[in-house]
This record gives sequence, structure tokens and C-alpha cells, in this order.
Amino acid sequence: MKMDLTDSQTHTPPPAATQPVASPCVNPQVGFVPELADNAWFSGKRVTVMGIGHFGGGTSTIRWLASLGADVLATDMSSADKLADQLTLLQPLIDKGHVKLALGAHNVSDFTTSDLVIVNPAVPKPWENRFLRAAIAAGVPITTEINLVVQRLPRREHVVAITGSAGKSTTSAMIHHILASTGRKTCFGGNIGGSLLDHMNQIQRDSFIVLELSSAMLHWLHGWSPRIAVVTNLAENHIDWHGSFDHYRESKRAIIANQKHGDAAVLGPGMHGWATRPGVCRIEMRDVHQVADIHLPGVHNRRNAAVAVAAAIALDPTLDHATAESAVRKFSGLPHRLERVGTWQGKKFFNDSKSTTPASTLLALDAVGESGLDKIHLIAGGYDKGSDLTPIGALAPKLAGLYTIGATGPAIAAVATATPEGAAHHTACETLDRAVNAAIARMTSGDILLLSTACASWGQFTNYEARGKLFCELVRAHFGAQPGEA
Ligand code: ADP
Repeated sequence: MKMDLTDSQTHTPPPAATQPVASPCVNPQVGFVPELADNAWFSGKRVTVMGIGHFGGGTSTIRWLASLGADVLATDMSSADKLADQLTLLQPLIDKGHVKLALGAHNVSDFTTSDLVIVNPAVPKPWENRFLRAAIAAGVPITTEINLVVQRLPRREHVVAITGSAGKSTTSAMIHHILASTGRKTCFGGNIGGSLLDHMNQIQRDSFIVLELSSAMLHWLHGWSPRIAVVTNLAENHIDWHGSFDHYRESKRAIIANQKHGDAAVLGPGMHGWATRPGVCRIEMRDVHQVADIHLPGVHNRRNAAVAVAAAIALDPTLDHATAESAVRKFSGLPHRLERVGTWQGKKFFNDSKSTTPASTLLALDAVGESGLDKIHLIAGGYDKGSDLTPIGALAPKLAGLYTIGATGPAIAAVATATPEGAAHHTACETLDRAVNAAIARMTSGDILLLSTACASWGQFTNYEARGKLFCELVRAHFGAQPGEA
């Protein structure tokens, strides 16, 4: 089940309570609940799913529960309108009476009278949530989709799990690509979207499992660590969910906290201070560890590739280094992360809609602007998360063009237009379609148009995926032909 803390609908928590929900690692009622390993347990049970979400994991979990004979109550703070796509997928089960809905608000009784609560990890500060606290007080167990997945994996020794503040999805997808393209049975799941519960019957004893894990998933997963753990990096993030950086870091640390003798931890640059458990093999990556000649732009991706190679070999030592490197060089990237949309008339287009912070937009500019910022047209702006967007506005004089959109557009524009050079390069567009048109009108051959907003998409879009998809569609619609070069 995907949780995108940077850019997804989260539930507004009810008023804070005074005592934290008991830590999952000491409470068998929360997180890793032993009896849930048995599929037969679910038959005839009443299960409340808190948070349907928009990335498919919620609906997959609900369908899986219904297939085991559970009576499911799916509750979400969002309205039916906002969840329309997901509800369409559930309609047959709703029609048959297997799934009931409580939308727009939660009811305490749905949490206190059920046999199990499955909480979406996007629910922030769950220990303060009054509905979850009511479930605990009533003795109702609480778990998450990722706990149910982990309980069903046939061999922990075949699992590599990846976390970190940035680069989780890319590194996970690279590991998956290396394993799958070298002929190994591999399943990829976790925070990337959807649910491995949908694919349980395809997972065999010799399958390798690649799990991308967010800090919130790891918070609920206390008590379990994979044989191969990867931590790409750590920077302050998601304080709204965790309440403090310490809590965020400790949640992430769960990925190595329960590793055993003979397991391995691949630690990215900056992570070498993390103590691993006795007998765990430490693979310390440094900035110089990079794979050259990959398809993806940017030094950070060359580092992600080196981490992926190290992790894949740790998982399957029969894989040799040269083969793994050659496989990762063929990895073509994930959508919305510096995705090459194509080249038309010598003009290049990149979709980096996943960038929701100024730091990741600066990284994207570094990555695509190796021949100079003066060739880059940047579309920036969106939902106001309160980040300091001065560094983005201040780039205007150096860029070929800066096109501002969304709620933060005026704030970026104010910085951009503070100098005559900046003002000359800035266009206030408000919407993405106007920005794409304005940029294409100014571009000449050799120029690059980069969508990397430094802001979340809410307000104008449901999530970053919808924003990136529209960008690609607008560009393709404008040129109306296959790109000359991908
Ligand atoms: P995550 O899944 O952790 O959000 P992604 O792989 O989706 O990470 O990449 C999201 C963004 O994070 C990228 O567009 C890029 O800006 C940045 N990023 C990726 N890898 C790294 C890295 N190793 N170090 C710093 N930033 C990175």
C-alpha cells in the first residue's frame, strides 16, 4: 500500500490524546499480530480499513480481505467524489454486500466493534489518533497492509528492503530491474504503489522480493527486518507525520534493528554512523561509488545505481558485478522522476513531477543542466507546504525561462521579478497548460523544458502522478507525433 507523505491526501487527525498508543514492538495487538499470518483467520471477521487512499493499495487490501471471506468496512475522511476511481474498483464488492463504506468522516464504533483495524500508513501520528486509540482500548488489533505482506513472504532471506529520505523508489526499481533482467523471479512492492497482497499466488519459494519501505511503514513494522536492508540517506522530512526528527530517524532504523547474524546492511554515504547489529555485514557506500553510463541523468542516480548493484549482489551472491552493472545501465527510469518525455525539433522535455521540495528541484536542475542553466525552462510552484522557495525564484536570471503555477506561484514570482533580468525571464502562468504553452513558445532547438515544481501538487491536482501525467499529455498533444528521440 503506497503512502506518499510528500504529496497525498492525509487524514486530519482528531484531537490529540494524552497517552501514546502502546509501541508496536511491545504490544502483540499492534503491527505484527501473530494470528493474522493465517488466511483462515479472516473468514467471517469484521475488518475496518482506515484510509482507502489513491494509489491502489487500499483497494487491493479491501479486495484481498473480501476474497478471504471478511466483512469489510472501508472508511475514509475523503468524500465519495474524491475517491471515485478507487470506488469504481470496489463497486462489485459493494453491490454484493461484502464491502460497506463510511466516507467523509470516521465513526468510533467502526473501530471499537470490529475484529481488526487495518490502518493506511498515511494516517499521521497514529499514536495520537482518537479512533485508533479507541480500537486499542477496546482490545481490537491494529495492523497495516505491509505487515500482512511480510507475514506471507515465504523466505525472509530472499528479501531486500530499501528506505531513505530520497532515492527509495529509484534504487528499489533498479534492484528489481537488475534481478528481473538477469532472469531471476522477482516481485517488487511496498511504498511503490499497489499491494503485493494481489500477487501472493505468484510469489514462489525461489522468488526474490524487493520492498520499498517508507518511514511510516517501518513505524508499524517494528519487530521485523529484511535480510538485506538498504538505507540510501537521511535528511529531515515528514515531521508533520512523525512529530520530530528523532521519531522519523528511529522509525527508519527499524529496517536494521532486527537484523540477524549473516544479514547485510547497505548504508549510503552519510549513513556510516548507524550501528548495525552484531554479525551483520556492513556494506558502506561512498560518494565515489557510482555506475557510469546509465540512462538516468545526475550524479545522485549514478550513486543510486552503485547502491542497487551492491544490494542485488548481497541478496544473490551468484550474481557477478559486471553482469549487475551492465543490467543497471539498461534501466530506463521511473515515471515522474526526471523522466525523459522525449525530444521534438531538438527540444527536450523532462517530467520531474515527483519533486516537491526546493532541494530536489535544485538537484534536478543540476542533473539535466550539465550544459548550463541558460538552456533550461523551468515550471515551478504548487501547493504551499511552507518551504522557503527563494532559491527557486532567485534562479530566474540564470534560466532560459521560469514559469510559475499554483498557490506558491506569486511567492516565487516575487523573488524572480526583484531584478530586471529575472523579470525578463519570468512568466506568471497559474496553470500547467498555460505554462507548457508559454514555455514551448519561447523554446529553441537545444533547449530543455523541466517540470520540477519544488512544491506539492494539491490544490490543482490529486497527487504528483496526476500532475506529471498531464504534463506529458500536454507536451505530446502539442507536437502530435512520436518524439524523435526518447
Ligand atoms: P523517494 O522514493 O525516496 O521519494 P525517488 O527515487 O522517487 O525517491 O526520487 C525522488 C527524488 O529524490 C528525485 O527526483 C531526486 O530529486 C531525489 N533523489 C533521488 N535519489 C537521490 C539521492 N541518492 N540523493 C539525493 N536525492 C535523491
